[in-house]
Amino acid sequence: MPFDSKDRVAVITGGSRGIGRATALAAAARGFRIVVGYAANQAAADEVVATIEAKNGKAIAVKCDVAEEKDILALFEAADKFGALAALVNNAGIVGETARVDEMSAERIQRMMAVNVTGSILCAREAVKRMSTRHGGKGGVIVNLSSVAAKLGSPNTYVDYAASKGAIDSFTVGLGHEVAGEGIRVAAIRPGLIDTDIHGSGGDPDRAHRLAPSVPMKRVGTAEEIANAIVWLMSDEASYVTSAILDVSGGR
Ligand code: NAP
Repeated sequence: MPFDSKDRVAVITGGSRGIGRATALAAAARGFRIVVGYAANQAAADEVVATIEAKNGKAIAVKCDVAEEKDILALFEAADKFGALAALVNNAGIVGETARVDEMSAERIQRMMAVNVTGSILCAREAVKRMSTRHGGKGGVIVNLSSVAAKLGSPNTYVDYAASKGAIDSFTVGLGHEVAGEGIRVAAIRPGLIDTDIHGSGGDPDRAHRLAPSVPMKRVGTAEEIANAIVWLMSDEASYVTSAILDVSGGR
């Protein structure tokens, strides 16, 4: 269903830094009102809002740990007050420290799945309730952040993370089919090695640059290169794209 993005709302989880931040700025430039979800770093979220407002865009920051259902409900209630929802970018995600499976605690694996998988599915549930024509909505788009790790499996690094992104791939295909007749498109991006803070938060800040020679294009990607693909999926230019997964990985 074609829609006018102008003055409609895009919720971006983890919109305060990295790929989410770049997506917030790119989507705001295309006329979306942006709800910047963040877990803890309010200063970073406020900076994204200020940057958007400085260019005459509209944005709000909302604290939301996607592992907490109550936070997700509050995020979408804030979005409702801001305007009619047109898009969700399920971007919030975490990695773990480098480890083999035989070294992983149950708590680590449960947190990985709670943030990367359950959080994305619950956010999608709230978005579908608002955007589906079945529920009186006007349609919209859901873009999920997967990873090439879903294909590679990330042995000796973080197989739990890779498995969480494999789940996102399956979820993208299935939900896309489920709501294809209700005005909602669902797609995923599988980024490769992207230059963001996520590698440092996994205890290996140089990971992306160290592995760059193994990428067919011999370099890491930028957050903006991922954001460009996401905002294309959010646009009517991608009007026949659903249940689709796009690698943006320099060939990795
Ligand atoms: P990042 O730089 O580490 O930024 C993470 C963002 O997510 C921050 O805005 C952070 O908020 C937020 N966040 C973290 N935990 C959260 C939680 N529990 N609830 C809500 N928000 C949370 O990450 P990134 O590299 O941009 O990654 C974004 C997505 O792309 C992730 O899903 C990641 O798996 C995927 N991806 C990244 C790469 C890569 O190489 N960078 C490759 C493949 C896939 P605060 O600012 O409040 O901490």
